[in-house]
Amino acid sequence: CKIDYEAPQGLLDGRVILVTGAGDGIGRAAALAYARHGATVVLLGRTIAKLEAVYDAIESEGLPQPAIFPLNFEGATLKDYHDMAAALDKEFGRLDGILHNAGLLGDITPFAQYDPALWEQVMQVNINGPIWMTQALLPLLEASADASVIFTSSSVGRRGRAYWGAYAVSKFATEGFMEVLADEVEHLGTLRINTLNPGATRTAMRQSAYPAEDPGTLRTPEDIMPTYLWLMGPDSRGHSGEAFDAQPPRT
Ligand code: NDP
Repeated sequence: CKIDYEAPQGLLDGRVILVTGAGDGIGRAAALAYARHGATVVLLGRTIAKLEAVYDAIESEGLPQPAIFPLNFEGATLKDYHDMAAALDKEFGRLDGILHNAGLLGDITPFAQYDPALWEQVMQVNINGPIWMTQALLPLLEASADASVIFTSSSVGRRGRAYWGAYAVSKFATEGFMEVLADEVEHLGTLRINTLNPGATRTAMRQSAYPAEDPGTLRTPEDIMPTYLWLMGPDSRGHSGEAFDAQPPRT
């Protein structure tokens, strides 16, 4: 946890960073934080109006001009990922980072009642889609002199908890895939792969998982950005295959 990290102003100058689920919640805050530290951000998500609002916020601050990439992990095909890689290759020729942040909660319900179609949907959005997107983007990551891939985990991706169903299983898979890929690319010395658990954070997803909770007691997406910046930027060089937390556990 690097909640006290103070990112230098130009931390991400000149870097091209893809943020999935960039239209809302933690992804929106990360896209803005990365742009404010000099990155050209590629905003990916399924709701174009939300991506446009983030785009406008970045433009209005005079930050590096972002790009918008509308994509819904539910219906996306391999061709979509390869078309995306081709477009990014043409525009930038490389990719210096990916924040895999898009996520779907699914149902919090006893497994006996879990809807199989919803289970598949959660696995598609939280792990299968991101995996095939990463495969398509690997050559662009390898073209970077220093690239960081962050997969978003959760506390239920590290210790299972009753009723968390597909969401927990997708996050365990995320941790496993991170270890496999980190080990595979270690020899490159220029590409690090880690997971980051944001911890309880004031967003729409958290509210739907804990409807009775007072959101005022939670850290905001902005509060947890120090770790997001540290792990994306060069100060975390040398760390790969590791599982990080963006905030200390709540007591
Ligand atoms: P939000 O629900 O606020 O944001 C999720 C983002 O993912 C939205 O931008 C959403 O787009 C996008 N998204 C959802 N489904 C798809 C899809 N099919 N295709 C493309 N984009 C999609 O959640 P948070 O910001 O809270 O969560 C961000 C990440 O952090 C998730 O991976 C979550 O699992 C994880 N996390 C969050 C915690 C918390 O306390 N908030 C705790 C632990 C982990 P749209 O807005 O268009 O729906």
